[in-house]
Amino acid sequence: MKLVDNFYAYLWPGVTTQEMMRYGNNSNSYAVANALPGNKHVLVDPGQVVNEARQNCLDRLISEMKKDGLKIEDVGLIINTHAHPDHYGASEEIRKLSGAKVAIGKEENEFLKLASGEMSQALKSMGFEMPEVHPDLYLSEGELRLGKDLVAQIILIPGHSDGHIGIYWPKEKIFMGGDLVFDGSTGRVDIPGGSAEALKASIERIAKLDIEYLLTGHQYGSPGIIKGKEQIKRNFEIIRRSIFPYL
Ligand SMILES: [Zn+2]
Repeated sequence: MKLVDNFYAYLWPGVTTQEMMRYGNNSNSYAVANALPGNKHVLVDPGQVVNEARQNCLDRLISEMKKDGLKIEDVGLIINTHAHPDHYGASEEIRKLSGAKVAIGKEENEFLKLASGEMSQALKSMGFEMPEVHPDLYLSEGELRLGKDLVAQIILIPGHSDGHIGIYWPKEKIFMGGDLVFDGSTGRVDIPGGSAEALKASIERIAKLDIEYLLTGHQYGSPGIIKGKEQIKRNFEIIRRSIFPYL
């Protein structure tokens, strides 16, 4: 689904309870078309290959992108907001199909190392199967210059995970926040690497940005895209009032 010129959203179904039951868990994915030399696309959070409800998430993403004229073979860069399998899971499969490079936050790569070692049992007991991923690029806070006129700002937003990144497109006023906030709620902080205090601080930082499209990592029973400055401001206020006290 086209959002604005060159920006596309692929929302995993789950606004109604029936959809949530039927489709299971997967992250929303976002594409920036023709962002790279050779008209290659950037894909943010590719989601899983197959999820616990046996939905073919990657097949669905590929066919939805096709409807917009975007071929998976033309993905040149995958940016993962964080190292949870429902977000990065399909990275290596898409690399096979396209030769895309895979990027993740620098600190999040440390989590990946722990996740395959000492933390693996704890994650497994929480139901996390960690698919393999071998990032090529480790992103730190700062400017990410893609095409000639295309600049993204990588912002560190720890809390849901330690090395979580958000991607802000200042010209388009778009923020891709992964699992920082949703419509009416926030990312959980009980997974290893999570921190309620860090999450609150990250949310306050992002609340100061000029955002017209807040793109979240999941629908979880509410819209995955929060549109309009006022609506976004209201959402931060609701979160402060009704979620912060319980984090
Ligand atoms: Zn997550």
